[in-house]
Amino acid sequence: MKGVFLDQLPPRTCDHSPLCPGAEDHDRGEARIVSAHPEQGWNLRCNGILSFEDNGQLLPDGTVIASQRPVGLDRTAA
Ligand SMILES: [Zn+2]
Repeated sequence: MKGVFLDQLPPRTCDHSPLCPGAEDHDRGEARIVSAHPEQGWNLRCNGILSFEDNGQLLPDGTVIASQRPVGLDRTAA
């Protein structure tokens, strides 16, 4: 699966140092922002992912990563 996924990506054009994490990496959200759209609540990052202000992410292959809110806060609501 990983090989198929990578074949669909355009060639990496990251010129940053150190290189940004790839869209397939667990720390993908740490890539540099290359196009910021704060008025719409999202940023395009160097590795091609869209990151949203609620920490949700949309990967280049269309995978949606749900927002990752702090664990435990919801338990006090009941
Ligand atoms: Zn980069």
